[in-house]
Amino acid sequence: MTTILVTNDDGVNAPGLKALYTALKELGKVIVVAPEREQSASSHSLTMHRPLRPISMGGDIYAVNGTPTDCVTIAVGKIIEETPSLVVSGVNNGGNLGDDVTYSGTVSAAIEGTILGIPSLAVSVAGEGNFNFETASFYASRVSERILKKGLPKGVLLNMNVPNVEYDKICGVKFTVQGKRVYDGSISETFDPWGRKHYWIGGGTPVWEAGDNTDFHAVERGFVSITPVRLDLTDYGALNYLKTEWRDFL
Ligand code: MN
Repeated sequence: MTTILVTNDDGVNAPGLKALYTALKELGKVIVVAPEREQSASSHSLTMHRPLRPISMGGDIYAVNGTPTDCVTIAVGKIIEETPSLVVSGVNNGGNLGDDVTYSGTVSAAIEGTILGIPSLAVSVAGEGNFNFETASFYASRVSERILKKGLPKGVLLNMNVPNVEYDKICGVKFTVQGKRVYDGSISETFDPWGRKHYWIGGGTPVWEAGDNTDFHAVERGFVSITPVRLDLTDYGALNYLKTEWRDFL
């Protein structure tokens, strides 16, 4: 029996999660283990200094008072007895493109799945406003079906971003590289009632460096972007550089 673990970082009640759950039910048994409240930008954080308690929300849906990474960690082997065939995280309400992948709770849940040796997929709707989760869920289902049949290279997850449009407005699918965001200084300075300065991170419209084959470029042109992300962060070119150019340092 195919078992699919679904999680997210927007919380167990997020509409993107419901759409994904509905789409993936066609492929096997879907078990949802998701944070009880929003955990966006929680990255790959793990809760180690307080207990985690799964609460059954009915059926195969559980809420956990922790991060997306906590959810995958306790789902596999604790909440779900067998190892799931696939972990799918999303559908996130907002893109996870370029450097923002490193902050993403959505992608980190897929990272945790990959660490546990389970093929994993992160899915996000890239855009703003009223999110079209159905289009993204449809593509999540198509990609999941293929992963279940063919697997994924070891240590690699797929990060998929789907334009925020109706299904018939999608121009196609592109395999992409992670783009690079131009730092836009989106930090607001505010003051508390006692006149002390605060900083508030977020907002602003991200600007991206040009690059034909990037994730951002694909979604901007109406294509679904699929980026293979590997967990081995070693830069092998730089390793060779150090071994030769820094040889006198050894
Ligand atoms: Mn989110």
